[in-house]
Amino acid sequence: MLLLALFAVGAQAQLKNNKYHEPIKVAKKWKKYNPGDVIFRDESPESGGSKIFHNIIPEPTPYIQENALRVLQTLYRSPKDKNVPKLNRIIYTLKEYDGVSEKYGHGDHVGIRYSTKWIERSFAGNDTMKLDYETRGVLYHELTHAYQLEPKNCGEYSDGGEYWCFIEGMADAVRLACGCFEQDFQSKDRPRAETWRKGYRVAGYFLWWIQQTKDKNFLRKFNRSAAELDTWSWDAAMKHVLGDKPENGVEALWEEYRKAIGEK
Ligand SMILES: [Zn+2]
Repeated sequence: MLLLALFAVGAQAQLKNNKYHEPIKVAKKWKKYNPGDVIFRDESPESGGSKIFHNIIPEPTPYIQENALRVLQTLYRSPKDKNVPKLNRIIYTLKEYDGVSEKYGHGDHVGIRYSTKWIERSFAGNDTMKLDYETRGVLYHELTHAYQLEPKNCGEYSDGGEYWCFIEGMADAVRLACGCFEQDFQSKDRPRAETWRKGYRVAGYFLWWIQQTKDKNFLRKFNRSAAELDTWSWDAAMKHVLGDKPENGVEALWEEYRKAIGEK
């Protein structure tokens, strides 16, 4: 009996240290918030990926809504924040196509497609927790696009510049902060790069490091800077949030970050 109990504790401790951990808690103030109605569509019900998805996520609507709250609480301090975009509906579609996932639409009507082929690939080894971790991670990224603020006068998405880097860097920073990339700077989830301008996880880990070391509300404030600055840039936003000093410029912080994580 004792041995069994010990074994149970051991298994639980192991689960906590496992990267495929339980999802982060939704804060009380967000629990009753409506993140938008979810319409679930399955356009490839015959695919293997669809069957796997339905087995693991029998009720997609509450699953998506709960994960939307995790994204919202990472981006905004409270539902009372006037900057929180009110989404009318989120159309979530399973579809067989080459790719991973994508968000489309804008304003209060957005859609997210998730590839059944990607589901099949992520389920290699029949690891249910791995698939949930991946699916949730992808959802955090795409839902960030639905709820994040958009910076002004700093180019457009297609030019791959500062605007694009903000949009994709924040999406991966939120995914990381919610626990769906390894929270270890030495892990291979963090791509090595010379510049934060590569966006995605390169920028995401950088932003998350600033949150760890400079300001625990950094991601929310960085998101808010998009509404507060008339002409947005990475440099201006960092100084706006952390204080207008040379050491808070984006290049200075990038250098400090790389030294701190032992990359330089
Ligand atoms: Zn994206």
